[in-house]
Amino acid sequence: MLGRCLSCVHLYQFSARSVCLKKLWPRLSEGVQWLVGNGNSIRFWRDNWLGETIASSLNYVQEVQKLLNDKVSCFIANGRWNLPSSFCRTLPTLAQSIHSIELPEEPSPDQVIWSETASGSLTSSDAYNALDPPTPGPSWCKHIWHAAIQPRKSVTTWKVLHGKIQTDDFLQIRGTCLCSRCLLCGSNSESRIHLFQTCEIASSLWHWLRHLFRLRFPPGTSLRDFFLDNLLSSLDYSSRLLWYIVVCNLLWCIWQERNKIKFDGGTFCLPRFKQFFTLSLRESVRLIFASSSRASTAAPIFGLLGISPLRPMAPRYIPVTWTPPPENWFKANSDGSFRDPNHAGFGGIFRNSEAAFLGAFSCKAIVPWAIDTELLAVMAVVKVARDRNWFPLWLETDSMLVMHYLKNPSRVPWRLRTRWKNCVASISQLQVHISHIYREGNRVADKLANFGATNDNPTWWDSIPPFLLSSFGHDYSAQMDYRFR
Ligand SMILES: [Zn+2]
Repeated sequence: MLGRCLSCVHLYQFSARSVCLKKLWPRLSEGVQWLVGNGNSIRFWRDNWLGETIASSLNYVQEVQKLLNDKVSCFIANGRWNLPSSFCRTLPTLAQSIHSIELPEEPSPDQVIWSETASGSLTSSDAYNALDPPTPGPSWCKHIWHAAIQPRKSVTTWKVLHGKIQTDDFLQIRGTCLCSRCLLCGSNSESRIHLFQTCEIASSLWHWLRHLFRLRFPPGTSLRDFFLDNLLSSLDYSSRLLWYIVVCNLLWCIWQERNKIKFDGGTFCLPRFKQFFTLSLRESVRLIFASSSRASTAAPIFGLLGISPLRPMAPRYIPVTWTPPPENWFKANSDGSFRDPNHAGFGGIFRNSEAAFLGAFSCKAIVPWAIDTELLAVMAVVKVARDRNWFPLWLETDSMLVMHYLKNPSRVPWRLRTRWKNCVASISQLQVHISHIYREGNRVADKLANFGATNDNPTWWDSIPPFLLSSFGHDYSAQMDYRFR
């Protein structure tokens, strides 16, 4: 199978990169699998289309395997599985796994997919991540990429904290011969730690700022530690946000000042630098804090900058209300819930034009990705509507990705691709309107999905269950929710 897969998977022409990929192919090939279409290209016993080959799961020796050349299409008739009754009798578990694979209603060829990604395709980055899984970034990362911190300041902070800023010690390690001198104090050689932290100038600036925030740091605190929650526990939310902004601005200003002196000449002047730093800081804080001339009881830095910690910029919001469908229409809201692959579920509720309860369901799911639960919810809604002939149907989902997959079914995660294509094909023949609603307006379905994630058995309700009463009443009385942006 491997040789045939190599010809099917999109590999680059033989270049240095493809030679490297070829060496790593045995590891990557473990994730290669067939997605069943018409079954004409897949060998029933010897190819991997169930997670492992049937021949190896039954421990057939190689000599026997070579004799087994039946195609999967031999076991399909009129678009349905047609396994011999003797096979189902002797291998019931295997037969059940095969029957659980949905066949496409419209003829389509078999596909080779890489099972370790949702899309089923193998890109260079997927291969790299599979061979060297990414580790989560340090905790300070999320604080430096903030809307109130200009990207140029975030990038400089990122370089300083990662040790990638081109101070003299950085260049010397890489073989540049130079005579190093700190351009702030003029009395030491320049290193990253010296310039940004231990230099008497930098140290006095940090001391000044800590005083303005009423912060005390233990000796030996590093620049990275400036973002640690336990050192900032005395600060409230606004002060902590302002501290992150201050740190990024000071690091950026020191680097700007150092470069200005290095390339334009001149000497360091503390009052001028403080003015430059304050202007830079104001440029950042005005993006999120409202100005205030009144004295504040918060950290003195707020008074210095003339901003109020109690008056952040008014957030923008969108009103969201659940609305009943037009007369004679049915309306369904669906949702998925995903904490991890073993705590996932989906659910849906049906209501009529008077917002009256018609029925609801919830179900547990064991799936690898959150989007799977959203897709399963939509497919379950369509199935219920078909069984009960609840059409015309207006279906609401809070997943933008589901809306995207309705237009592009071939991009759906490969595990659900065939089922989704069949569902979309049936929707196109029925009177179904699908729209998006923000999750603030989809709370009933959200509760049902959460119920499904924590209960093993699928459930159907003909009357409102007690845990839905408050959310249902909220929708029934057309109360408004707000989505903050
Ligand atoms: Zn210095």
